[in-house]
Order: sequence, then C-alpha cells, then structure tokens
Amino acid sequence: MAKDIMPLKEYLVDARAGKYALGGFCIWTYAYGKAVADVANKLGLPMLYIIGDAEIGFFGGEKNAVQACRTIASEVDVPVILHADHFRDFESIKRAVDAGFRSVMIDASAYPFEENIERTAEVVEFAHKAGVTVEGELGRIAGYEQHLSVDEEQALQTDPDDAVKFVKDTGIDILAVSIGTVHGLYKFEPHINIPRLKKIAEKVSIPLVMHGGSGTPEDKVAEAVENGITKLNLATDLVKTVGLATARVQQKEGFGYSVANLYAEAYEDLKVYAEHKMRLLAKHKLKEDM
Ligand SMILES: [Zn+2]
Repeated sequence: MAKDIMPLKEYLVDARAGKYALGGFCIWTYAYGKAVADVANKLGLPMLYIIGDAEIGFFGGEKNAVQACRTIASEVDVPVILHADHFRDFESIKRAVDAGFRSVMIDASAYPFEENIERTAEVVEFAHKAGVTVEGELGRIAGYEQHLSVDEEQALQTDPDDAVKFVKDTGIDILAVSIGTVHGLYKFEPHINIPRLKKIAEKVSIPLVMHGGSGTPEDKVAEAVENGITKLNLATDLVKTVGLATARVQQKEGFGYSVANLYAEAYEDLKVYAEHKMRLLAKHKLKEDM
C-alpha cells in the first residue's frame, strides 16, 4: 500500500523539545517537491510541504496536490507532511480535509481577537475529529508591500498574554507568531523581535512557527529556533531559485528546447537551497542523530 501523508503535530512537538525546526517548503509541482524530498530523505528529516490557494490551483485542485505528495511519500523513506497554508475560512479547510490534507492552517488573524478565537476554534473542533493538525495565527504578519513604522510593526506583533488565551480557548496544535518577519521579499533589513518570542515561548508550550522565512537573516533564524520556533515557512526563496535558474538556462544556447534541460538546473539549485536551509534549521537534530 502506498504510504500516506502524515499530520504535522507530533513532528513539531518533537522539534520544540529538541530545539530544531523544519522548513515548510512551498511547492507547486511534483518535480520540485521531489527535488526537496530527496534532500530530506538524504538527511533523514521529515519532509514538510506548505501550499496555499495559488499552488493548489497549479496542481489542479486539492485532491491532485494530496495525490502528488502521496506519490512522493511512497518514493522516500522519511515521513511526508502536506500542510494547507493560510486557509481563511471553514469551507476551504473542510474541502482540504475531505481531499486528504492532514494538516491545516486557519488564518483568521485579520479578524478581531474574539472572532479569531471563534473561527479558529470551529476549525479545531472539526479537524481534530479527523486527526488533522491545526495551526492558528495571532498577530498580523505584514506583506512586503506594507511600509510600517516601528510602532505600527509592534502593534501587529503577537502579544504574549493574548497568545496564552488564544491557545487555551481554541485548542490549536501550533501557533504562528508575528515577530517582525514579512511575507515576500524584504525591501529593508527586518527587525526580528527575539525578546518578544522569548516571552511567548515562556508562556506557551505548543510548537511556535514563523512565516516569511525567505530572506530573514540566518543568525536571527537560528536564534528563533533556539527559542521555540519549530517551522519556518519558505516560499519566495523557492520561486526565486526556480526563476533565476530557468532564466539562466534560457540565456544559454543549446538547451535544445527540451523541458528536461530547461528545468534541470532549477531542480539542482532547489536541492542546494533546501539542503542549506534544512541543515541550518535542524542543526541540533542532525547532530544528535550522528
Ligand atoms: Zn505565511
């Protein structure tokens, strides 16, 4: 029987205890997924994919995305996890779970605190019955297009006391915190608020996750992992890696108008990128296993 994809929770609980993190790699085709999975397999780390609405569209729907990841799962020895990223309502979560997703993020962070709790709790109640892991978000993770003052930045960040109530009232398994990263490319050096993360981690024992991993300074990422971050979402970096490689190949004469030639370098570059990030994030685990 083909190996199924796995719920995320237990892997991140282990990561929090072991002070390491998994990269959440955003993919939009089987091929790029397989490139990254080969690296996870080589290192002996769980393979964690994150995909949102746009990527699901490129796969041709939730069921196809699940099937592609099940195929990869049957081709590697390590566990494979597929996590629905930034799903904004109950209906889309239900569609994903019905299609076979075993890990989901409900992002109701745009709503007022009490409504975020309500919407998130509703998803938890439904998803837990199906053994599905749930990530919730408290605080807003800014988009790259947003120009914020330091005060505005602070206002968007996760409040440690609110985080305690949010986790307790919703029953989520994983908490996405806002501590200064942004989605997309940085236009300026980010201020990653490690003291705030430490306060949250002191009060909240479930695994914490950080979005906007692309371009975040690696010393800050390492510090965040030491302080409770167990998943780092990586999307923009993968798009950049694939985009630059295919543009480079296209410039060369003699790629022969072969699909395999066009994408070969992107495939290899993704592997190099993924190995670098996985080693950085799982430094403590990889040491232990040696
Ligand atoms: Zn995100």
